[in-house]
Amino acid sequence: MSVLVLCERRSDGIDEPSLQALAFARALYPGTSVHALACGVAADEVAPLLGAYGVETLHVAEHEVFDTYAPHAVARAAVELAGRLRLHALLAGGSEQGNEVVARVGALLDLPFAANCVAAEAGPPLRVTRVRWGGSLLEEALLHAELALLTVAPHAVAAQETNDGPAAVERFAPALDDADLLVRVRERARAAGGGVTLADAKVVVSAGRGAGSAEGFAPVEELAALLGGAVGCSRAVTMAGWRPHTDQVGQTGTKIAPELYIACGISGATQHMAGCKGAKRILAINTDPDAPILESADYAVIGDLHDVVPAIAAAIRAARNEKAGAE
Ligand SMILES: Cc1cc2nc3c(=O)[nH]c(=O)nc-3n(C[C@H](O)[C@H](O)[C@H](O)COP(=O)(O)OP(=O)(O)OC[C@H]3O[C@@H](n4cnc5c(N)ncnc54)[C@H](O)[C@@H]3O)c2cc1C
Repeated sequence: MSVLVLCERRSDGIDEPSLQALAFARALYPGTSVHALACGVAADEVAPLLGAYGVETLHVAEHEVFDTYAPHAVARAAVELAGRLRLHALLAGGSEQGNEVVARVGALLDLPFAANCVAAEAGPPLRVTRVRWGGSLLEEALLHAELALLTVAPHAVAAQETNDGPAAVERFAPALDDADLLVRVRERARAAGGGVTLADAKVVVSAGRGAGSAEGFAPVEELAALLGGAVGCSRAVTMAGWRPHTDQVGQTGTKIAPELYIACGISGATQHMAGCKGAKRILAINTDPDAPILESADYAVIGDLHDVVPAIAAAIRAARNEKAGAE
């Protein structure tokens, strides 16, 4: 028996949630062969990386549709592969894409699917703990299925290297019909910003309604750039049209896990905190000393963000200039 982990590519290899799903799979079924499925990847580049995270065999599905994201085609390839391997479980990272593809696998195989698991005990039946309602509750459930379909909630476990050699590569061309090719990304619009994504950034500087306007984000952008971080925001901001939805942190936005989260003029509603509770440290900047976010914050500055944020940026610049002068 073995496990299969669906691995999502990104420009420099495989995304972090997939590597976390590999660690989760190895802990759940110790000693079991770990297979990975990746679509449209350069096998020579990805096999050493996945081998280092414990993958024995990398299955590369080949078809021109995999030049882009095509969830139903990926699901069809996964189902074909699952039919050839004797699997305990099929897993993916709990990203939007991971959840979408595994939901499609469940529909194709008529099997139940446990999304966003934070823990699991091998069965049968498999016992899972999973995040529900934007992180406001943990559900314990039993998964009654011969083949368990799971995704792993982001940052439930850390990716773990095994330092094994490159994974063996097996290429295959899945049998896809026209219906499998219908859903696919046709075009990508490049997001404004310096290339650091919200989900991966080590520092995120966010602002909420307290920013006052789209223009009120100028000091927030400046501070994020100084710290090599990404800009985020609350839903009040996206609803007002000040920032795009891609910047929204929260239950219905991006889940982040930076080293430092700087939340400016954000009250700390549960739906917002559901997206940033993975942050290692939170600095809240707020005019209201009773704002709920202060309960979760490690540091707080009570004041107007339009004064405090430029003051922090100025202090960082001064410290850097002083250091450069001393060298
Ligand atoms: C189903 C559902 C899903 C949701 N999903 C999300 C989500 O994904 N993400 C999300 O963020 N929200 C989400 N929300 C909305 C959420 O409930 C809050 O309404 C929202 O987060 C509030 O945004 P805010 O903190 O910017 O605004 P407010 O709650 O209005 O808070 C503004 C804060 O700014 C402070 N402030 C004002 N002026 C200044 C200033 N000059 N300097 C410093 N501080 C100042 C105020 O003291 C206050 O604390 C969701 C709601 C629902 C019902």
